[in-house]
Amino acid sequence: MIDSHCHLTAPEFSADIADVIARAKTAGVQTLVTISDEMSDLPKCRALSATHDDIFFTVGVHPHHAKDFDITRDIQLLREASTHPKCRGIGEIGLDYHYMNSPQDTQQRVFEAQLALAKELNLPAVVHCREAVEDVWTIVNHVKPEKLVIHCCTEKWDDVKRFVDAGYLLSFTGIVTYPKAADIRETVKQCPIMSMMVETDAPFLAPVPHRGKRCEPAHVMDTAKVVAEIKGVSLTELDAVTTATAVKFFGL
Ligand SMILES: [Zn+2]
Ligand SMILES: [Zn+2]
Repeated sequence: MIDSHCHLTAPEFSADIADVIARAKTAGVQTLVTISDEMSDLPKCRALSATHDDIFFTVGVHPHHAKDFDITRDIQLLREASTHPKCRGIGEIGLDYHYMNSPQDTQQRVFEAQLALAKELNLPAVVHCREAVEDVWTIVNHVKPEKLVIHCCTEKWDDVKRFVDAGYLLSFTGIVTYPKAADIRETVKQCPIMSMMVETDAPFLAPVPHRGKRCEPAHVMDTAKVVAEIKGVSLTELDAVTTATAVKFFGL
């Protein structure tokens, strides 16, 4: 099993990261892809990836921090950072109109610039989309990157089907285990098993039965169990298919 999206450089893990990684391995989660949120994550990701063969990372700036992004300076810094042998993607990038921590037009410009960089470098784009699916689609359809995942997919199938039809992936978090998430379980049901990955988004969104606690990569198994149930396959089969998809997507 692979946790295709976690934030191991988050302060929530600073005290016990070695134990967190060890628990993931014990649970059968061999490979971890740690995702950057802001420029200051880059050196932390490089340092962490050096400690374990099975930790890879992405570089990019979250829409929350778009207001701090200097396109001329930071695109070049991301381009340089992406040459590291453990860097496997650009992310997370995207649009978040729920929190709106950065102005909408700034988010759009910063997303489009980073998405174009992913295309230029032929790296997968890890996309965050919250209450912004129409604008995310417009920008994706304009840039047309080679590889892309809508991470922590919380959208209705009718809204994200076009991404799958275009050859992109959807990735599901612990939210699929929450009682009120019937719409998201319906999206899981409709999405072809070949077009999905599973992730934790740790330290956030712990699946049931860990809900409310700090999430960690070992918990991806609880999400995978629920996704397997919805798809009507065994956990072993879901693991095999989603692991192969993540290996191909990130070039692991
Ligand atoms: Zn996100
Ligand atoms: Zn994330």
